[in-house]
Amino acid sequence: MMNDVAQAMDAGSSQPGPDVPMLECRGVGRNFTVGKGFFSAKKTLRAVQDVNLQVKRGEVLAVVGESGCGKTTLAKMMLGLLKPTTGEIFIEGEPVSNVGIRQIARKVQPVFQDPYSSLNPRKTLEAIISLPLKVHGIGTKEERRQMVEDIMAMVELPKRLIHSYPNQLSGGQRQRVAVARALIMKPEVILCDEPTSALDVSVQAHILNMLQDLRDEMNLTYVFISHDLAVVEHLADNVAVMYLGRLIEYADSSSLFSDPQHPYSQALLDSVLTPDPSKGIPEIALGRAFPNPLEPPSGCSFHPRCSQVMDNCSIDNPAMLDRDERKVECHLFNN
Ligand code: SF4
Repeated sequence: MMNDVAQAMDAGSSQPGPDVPMLECRGVGRNFTVGKGFFSAKKTLRAVQDVNLQVKRGEVLAVVGESGCGKTTLAKMMLGLLKPTTGEIFIEGEPVSNVGIRQIARKVQPVFQDPYSSLNPRKTLEAIISLPLKVHGIGTKEERRQMVEDIMAMVELPKRLIHSYPNQLSGGQRQRVAVARALIMKPEVILCDEPTSALDVSVQAHILNMLQDLRDEMNLTYVFISHDLAVVEHLADNVAVMYLGRLIEYADSSSLFSDPQHPYSQALLDSVLTPDPSKGIPEIALGRAFPNPLEPPSGCSFHPRCSQVMDNCSIDNPAMLDRDERKVECHLFNN
């Protein structure tokens, strides 16, 4: 019977070629229409614009940037929770628009920032962790119980907690429950949105180490959304820096941290980190506040804050330039 369960979970997971990226964004954008009141004109908020990137199987891609830079909107599109206005997202070469939300959920699972608000307080751990199996009609009650116990062992949650409720757990244990729930469907990609920022610093390291171990054990691919650059440097293979909805620099982690090229990336790495992710990354090197996304600056949208601004920066949009293995969207590198 367990073989039947395994087959049911693997159904539809025919392996594409090794060169096919696990996840790919091609020209992905997402607009929202925003209106302040009955008489005010509606405006278009371009939350994400023309994002192109690839994530290989087993890679950890970190997406960084201040609050409002579009990283969470991008994550929601990767999860199939929002449709792109432009472009397409591919999972193992298959356009997300061709597959239903349930199929996406089999391949991509989220772990959110606040484990308390993402777990139903009226359900036991067994009910919470087994819910995705139930939704997908996988296994009998007994088989699901066994699978929950197995996954609890993997995330180092004691078996005795299986009938506990979220409010009986510590913050770190709740985040382990959220990870167990994400892993129970054996997904390929885990999309972590600030997974440790609501936790005590002492607990963060345990959760991060666990995520790293699980990646190796289960050959997982991570998309890691974080404002915490120390975490990003520790975990990520590649880093995508976003500003005002645009991908402005992409590089492998060691290149980005040793030699950031875009002036915004440089300011980001110079900045002091805040423990409160809702406040984003504080400004020290940047002279002016984050612009209103409804009225983005002309030309390079970073130009009002850029320490290296040039005459044409407020007029012309810089193109994304390939520089060896890196990409950077800035006029400084045009020649
Ligand atoms: Fe600064 Fe100009 Fe580069 Fe924009 S394009 S980051 S304003 S130098």
